[in-house]
Formats: sequence, C-alpha cells, structure tokens
Amino acid sequence: MLWSNARIRHARNVAVQERVAAVRRDNPESEAWLGLLEAALGESEDRATWEAAVPAPAAERPVKAPVLAHTQVTLDGRAARGWVRRLLKLSPPVNPRRIDGLALLEAAVCHDDARIDALAVAGDAEPHALRVLGQMAALPLLQACARRLASELPATWWEGYCPLCGAWPVVAEYTGLERKRQLRCGRCGTGWAIPLLRCVFCDETDHDKLSYLTPEAGEQTRKIEVCHSCRGYVKGFTTVRALAPWAILLDDLTTVPLDVAALERGYRRPERPGYSLECLITERRGWGRLVEVGGGWWRLLRRGLHHPPAPPPSSTDLRRGEA
Ligand SMILES: [Zn+2]
Ligand SMILES: [Zn+2]
Repeated sequence: MLWSNARIRHARNVAVQERVAAVRRDNPESEAWLGLLEAALGESEDRATWEAAVPAPAAERPVKAPVLAHTQVTLDGRAARGWVRRLLKLSPPVNPRRIDGLALLEAAVCHDDARIDALAVAGDAEPHALRVLGQMAALPLLQACARRLASELPATWWEGYCPLCGAWPVVAEYTGLERKRQLRCGRCGTGWAIPLLRCVFCDETDHDKLSYLTPEAGEQTRKIEVCHSCRGYVKGFTTVRALAPWAILLDDLTTVPLDVAALERGYRRPERPGYSLECLITERRGWGRLVEVGGGWWRLLRRGLHHPPAPPPSSTDLRRGEA
C-alpha cells in the first residue's frame, strides 16, 4: 500500500538498477532528470496499483484513434495523489501542495500542455518543469496500460504516433538481422512497425525529402532521421534486441547529443501531441459505486429535510452532485 508521506521507492529490477547506475556515472549533468525517471521506473514496479486502473478501451473509436483515446481511467486516488506528491517533492521549486495530482496526471496522459501550463501558473511552478514532471508522473499508469492492453492493439498501424497512448515515438529501432524499422514510444513502451522511408510526423514518402545524419566519428549504430518537408527528426538506433520499455527513456537521455545536433541544424520535434487522447481520470471511492450512488441519494435526502422536495434527480444530476 502506498502512503502519501512514504519515500520514493527504488527499482528492484537488477537490470534497471545497473543501467541507472551506469547512466548516472556517465551523465552527471543529467542527474535532475535521471532522478525523476528512476523514481518513475521504481513506481512502475508497483504493478497492482496501476494495473487496477487500466481502463477498458472505448467501445467505438475512430480507426486512427489510439487504444486509450476517450477512455475513463478510474484509479485509487489516494495512491495516485501520493505518488505525484512524492515525485513533485524531488523537484524543489515545485510545491506539491499547490498542484492537484490527479489533474496533472490527466493532463499529462492527454499530452495537454496548455492545461499543464495553467496548473503551473495556478501553483506558481515553472511550466516546462511541470510538463516533464507530468510525463514522469504518467509513466507508471501508461506502462501498466501497455502491459494489459497489448492484445487490443490494431494488427496494422500506419500512423506515426503510438497506437496505445498517442505520443510521438522517441526512437526508431532497427533490430536483429532484418533491421526492420520499429518505432518505440517513450511513455508506454509500445513498439509498432512503419515503412523505412516515411516521415513519422507528416507522412512524407518522397525519397528526396528524407535523409539521415550520422555522427562524424563514424558511429553507425545511432543516427538522426530527418524530414526536409516538416523539419522533424527522430533518433534511430540499431540494437541486437528490442529495448525493454523501461530502457527507452534511459537511452533517450544518454543520446541527448544527437538531439542537440538535430536542433542545431534546424530540425525539431513537433510541439503538438501525436493524438489528443481526451481521457478522463476519476477517483475510485473507498466503497466503490455503491457509495457513489447511495451517498448521492443520502445527501439529497438530508438536503430534503431542510428544503422543499425537488423533482427526482436524473443520473447526470447525481453524478454532478458527487463531483
Ligand atoms: Zn505510447
Ligand atoms: Zn516530415
């Protein structure tokens, strides 16, 4: 069980521990960011809490909508708020008491930066720092969703954004002897195949508009794929086997020089999300739905003792009364 004042849990997975230690040793300048990621990876190991919140996919969603689009996530509010509070405490300029943990989680899952910025203004926090914190806060939930909803992924997916959570890929992975191009999501860890010559962001397929940059030192396993049409870029890694979901952001962190090289040449990653999920995050009450409905009636009943009887409420009124 999580307690709001409990300390950050550390990853128990030995492979994660060793990789985090190596990244920490080789990239001391990334410590602030790494500390947040390490906390998120540790929290992701609390599978019971987060997998209990995995929603059922929306019954009818457009063909191009990711699995999590328009879903309603119902989670253990106490556990989720506690986690967000512990994470925010790692970033001292942000006062955890002034940020609504569930609102931050929802905005981050939906990739709604405007809402995160509004939360930052209201909570007197630095907007960019809160965007990063929001994404780290959402990691345990999104990785649980990827584990539990893998069977819901469409058999074919032609979009550049993640078929599960709608984010742009962090990396294009070329694995094994076949060197097939597989895009990987840094949030939920999902991978999806996409043709080699096609821009992730604008669907450009003209060979003359697509190219890649490689480090001059001759390293061939890492490159930057660029599109001259939209000026977008994505990093490309050649790997022996597919990266574990937890390793994607660690690799992203250790390859920041590639991002710097791309940015210096005028390439960038889109500000807009791949797909706006429009998820709702609500809190599970201690006594479940029974109290939610029964409590609503009880409250109305008590109100009736002091006020003249009102016409029977519709179920929407009840829900609004509970909000
Ligand atoms: Zn994803
Ligand atoms: Zn493009």
